[in-house]
This record gives sequence, C-alpha cells and structure tokens, in this order.
Amino acid sequence: MARISFYGGVGTVTGSKYLLEHNGKRVLVDCGLFQGLKELRERNWQEPPFDPKEIDAVIITHAHIDHTGFLPRLVKLGFTGKVFTSRATCDLLQILLPDSGRLQEEEADYRNRKNLTRHAPALPLYDEADALDALKLLVPIPNDGNPVEITDGFKASFNVAGHILGASLVLVEMEQARETGESIKFLFSGDLGHYDQPIVKDPTAPAQADYVMVESTYGNRLHGDVSSEDGMADVINEAAKNNEPILIPAFAIGRTQEILYLIRELEDAKRIPVLPVRVDSPMAAQATQVYNRFTEEHDEEYASILSGKRHPLRTGSMQTASTRAESMKLNDEKGTRIIISASGMLTGGRVLHHAMRVLPNKNATLIFVGYQAAGTTGRRILDGETEVKIMKEWIPVRCHVRRIEGFSAHADWKAVLRWLEGLQNKPQMVFTTHGEPDAAEAMAGHIRERFGWNVVVPQYGQTIELL
Ligand SMILES: [Zn+2]
Repeated sequence: MARISFYGGVGTVTGSKYLLEHNGKRVLVDCGLFQGLKELRERNWQEPPFDPKEIDAVIITHAHIDHTGFLPRLVKLGFTGKVFTSRATCDLLQILLPDSGRLQEEEADYRNRKNLTRHAPALPLYDEADALDALKLLVPIPNDGNPVEITDGFKASFNVAGHILGASLVLVEMEQARETGESIKFLFSGDLGHYDQPIVKDPTAPAQADYVMVESTYGNRLHGDVSSEDGMADVINEAAKNNEPILIPAFAIGRTQEILYLIRELEDAKRIPVLPVRVDSPMAAQATQVYNRFTEEHDEEYASILSGKRHPLRTGSMQTASTRAESMKLNDEKGTRIIISASGMLTGGRVLHHAMRVLPNKNATLIFVGYQAAGTTGRRILDGETEVKIMKEWIPVRCHVRRIEGFSAHADWKAVLRWLEGLQNKPQMVFTTHGEPDAAEAMAGHIRERFGWNVVVPQYGQTIELL
C-alpha cells in the first residue's frame, strides 16, 4: 500500500516536506526549513513527525532553503541515505547550505549574548559542519527526464521546472504499487517558473501521472503585464540624469542574476547608459559561475549569447566585490553606479552597509526588485517609514524609494493551468500545496473549474492512501 504524508509546504509556502511510503521504503520529497511566522519556525525545532533514521532516500526539487534547509538537521538527527537532485542544484547547495549553517550559528550566538534563550546555552539548529555532512550525501542527476533508481520500488525522473537554475519537476514511479501489479506515478511540480522568464527554460510539459502535486504560491494572484524592463530603464535613467547612486538589494541566487541579465540587455539595446555595476556579495559571485556552467538549463537566448562568446551576466562595466576590503572600497566611489547586494529584504548581509549610506542621502535611489515580507526592514521602508533601525542605529530614509514589479520566479495561477493542460491523462487526484491557505484553495478552485478534476488541499500532518 502506497501513501503520502504532508509534513510541510501546506498552509504555508515554507517547510516543504512530503513523505512517500511504499514497498517498506520511505522517500522524502524536499526537506525545507519553515520560515516566517514564529509558530512555523518552531516546527524546525520540534521532533520531526517521522524518524530521520528510517528515511531511505531524499529527493530535492530545487536549491531554495524552504525546500532544502532542513537537510543538515535531518542528517544531524541520523539520516544517512542518499539525496537525489539535479546537477545544478547540487552546485548551488554547496553555496547555500554551509551559509545556512553559519547563519544558524550566528543566531544561536546572538541569543546567547542577549540572554534570549530559555535553554542555556542556545544551540544552533545545525552548524556549518552538519551542512558539509549533508553535502556528502548528494547524488547529482541530469535534469533530462531519464528515470533513475532511488531505492527498492522507487524510480524518479527529473525535468526542468523553469523556476531557478536546476529546479526540477520530479516524476516518482512507485513500482507495482497497485494490487493489479501496476505502478503509481506521482508528479511533483516543485516550484514552477513562469513562461518566457529570462535565463532558464520554460517549465517542461508534464507527462502522464496518476497523482499530481502542484504549487499554489500565486493561486489567487496574477502577475499582470507590468514590464520590469521599462520600469528598470526609467529608474536607472532618472538616477543617471541626477548623478545619483543606485542600490538594489537582491537575493544572491536567482534574482541577482536576473537583474544583471536585464541591465546588460538594456545596455545592449542602448536604453540606458553603460554605468558602473558593483555586485557586492560573495555568494552571488559564486552563484553566477554556477549559472554559466549548466548549459543544459539555459533557454535559447541565453545559450545564443554564451555561444557568441559573451557573458550574458556581465554588464559593460562591472566589478564583483568578494573580499571585505573590496566591499569597503566601493564606499569611496562617486557618481551614478548600481550596487547590487544581499540580502534582498535588508535583513542582514553586506547590503546593510550600503543602505546606511544610501538611505539618508536624498540624492540616491533605492530599488526594490523582490517581495518584502512583513516585519523586514525592506518592508518598513516600502511602507513609508521615515526612520529604520540598521545595526542598532536609527537611519533616516530620505532617498528615492522605487519598486519595480514584474520579477517573480513563480508561475501565477493562469500559468499553472497552462502547465497542467499539457498533462496527457486525467489524474486520479491533484494536490495543491506551497501556498497560503487562501491561495491553495483558490488554485484548487481554478483547477476544478477548468478541468473538472478531483483536487484536494492537504492539511499539515495529513496522510492519504494512494490507490
Ligand atoms: Zn523556490
């Protein structure tokens, strides 16, 4: 008897963890960290609802921490099996997981110094060494649709999902899972990208599947037709005219590369002047290298630029600051320049040093290119607060604050329907996950209405028999 249990990524976009059981084996699909609200984050600390020692293998859809950040904890709690994921995801995890371990250590240190802990001393959820242990278990798989053996009775194939580099749709085949001896095919969308996104390919059309799990981040929203290109060109030109510096806080993996690609395109089209671009994030620099390494993941445009011996992520006058000293040096520069630095919501990282200079300067421009979650410094600035606290200092906000829409790595609900349309059969059941409750319900409604399929919005901890 095969079954699935939902231990994350339901009722929320974080903590994705789906447990498949069949043939006496247990396979966990995604192993994400809960983020955001306190009651969610506390789940990271609770004893998992399954024994990590009894998990036979893990499958990872893509590198984002809300899909992978619990992996070092799983290893720390005794998991020793293999972790199957795409080749590019393996390389991105080499950057992301150790960084996540360091952040966990810093957080524990902070709690100890501030006496914020009920447990003395506060321990990290996991540390950098645990993250390195987790990396040893990775098995890189080509994102090409060919089935690989996961464990006895389980096969899986990985295909491009178009969300970020390396992101996969995963079709899991549970062999002889029915009484008739037939297998059950379960398709996980992972996070789905939208069509015509730069750099990565469009999502691969789904194959035949008995069960489908589909993400619903934008289950109740549409991206609209705002062009991020036009918005970016206008803001950069205005700042250049006034000789103002520009600061763009951006997540190091994915968004930074998208921004570089866009600026280079605008320069090539002569829609903006060639300005100094400074990427101040060692993680972003490493990730950019990974982006160029995996040609099989690139869309046609990206591939053709690369084959023309151009670097699609290199603008006309670009420098990357890796060391602290290089980062400090950027402070001495004058005139219009574009500084791209992480974190994207101004919650930490090198971007804070730049923000302390840019925010009080009424002749400077701050550009938001990503979602600013409630409670973050980025959100406060966007909400119009005139003073924000950065590194214990109150900083006045006098610069121009701009927000450019149109950047999202997720398919909206219409794009999800477009993707589902490619399915070659009527599935027995569809699950909508990876959405806030309203979004998951709305996505389920859209699917029922369009296709008349049986759609379930699973609850945290729920188990469903697969027949
Ligand atoms: Zn993601």
